[in-house]
Amino acid sequence: MTRITSLRSIFYRLAQQLVDFCRYSRVIAANLTILREPWFIMYLTKTPGVIQNLFPGLVWHIPVEEKKIFLTFDDGPVPEVTPWVLDQLSDYDAKGTFFCVGDNVSKHPIIHRRLVESGHAVGSHTYNHLSGWGTENIRYFHNVRRGATLTKSGLFRPPYGRLKPSQIPFLSRHYNIIMWDVLSGDFDPKISAQQCLENVIQNAEAGSIIVFHDSIKANEKLRYVLPRVLKHFNHHGFSFHALTEDLLGERDSMRKSA
Ligand SMILES: [Zn+2]
Repeated sequence: MTRITSLRSIFYRLAQQLVDFCRYSRVIAANLTILREPWFIMYLTKTPGVIQNLFPGLVWHIPVEEKKIFLTFDDGPVPEVTPWVLDQLSDYDAKGTFFCVGDNVSKHPIIHRRLVESGHAVGSHTYNHLSGWGTENIRYFHNVRRGATLTKSGLFRPPYGRLKPSQIPFLSRHYNIIMWDVLSGDFDPKISAQQCLENVIQNAEAGSIIVFHDSIKANEKLRYVLPRVLKHFNHHGFSFHALTEDLLGERDSMRKSA
């Protein structure tokens, strides 16, 4: 009887190890997929901790205890979308962070000025929306700087979230590189506006950095999702804040003293 019990316990232990191995393999396979195909990360609505830990020098979320959320908008400013976003934010006294494409700032300086004058944070998103993966480093750095000079900002978000590891040290010295922990998927034509809304509502928490796009491509979904996100989180006691350089400095000093 004792022998049967011990055999059974060995069997269970082996079975458990097999299950753990399968789980672990799946995690490794997923990460290899991410490393091979950066678009995969674009479809993860919640950035996994393992990815955040791989690149601790990038900003993935803000460690706050209060119910604060950080909405971000990429690819503007464009007259068809950005002024509408500003009106929506204004209804909730919300501040956001706009990662502007330099070329759009050149074309629409009045909207850019309105962003700044309304108290929102503005960051750079390169001048021509270049992917770091497909661009030679010196050319990429020049394009980042050209965008940053126009936006007069020390915040930078790489288009598509794509950076080569060799680009990170140089850019980190000059900019706060802002990633995200929640991706709305508003750019994705394959998902519904309702799904996009659920992506945000189910994944955002205090300190989350959420990605939207003030672009024509995302316009239709954004008009459905943004007012509902503002209403939902406002109802649950959250407030919406810009990613100021003061805040990010505070975050760095908090991390150093931890
Ligand atoms: Zn972009």
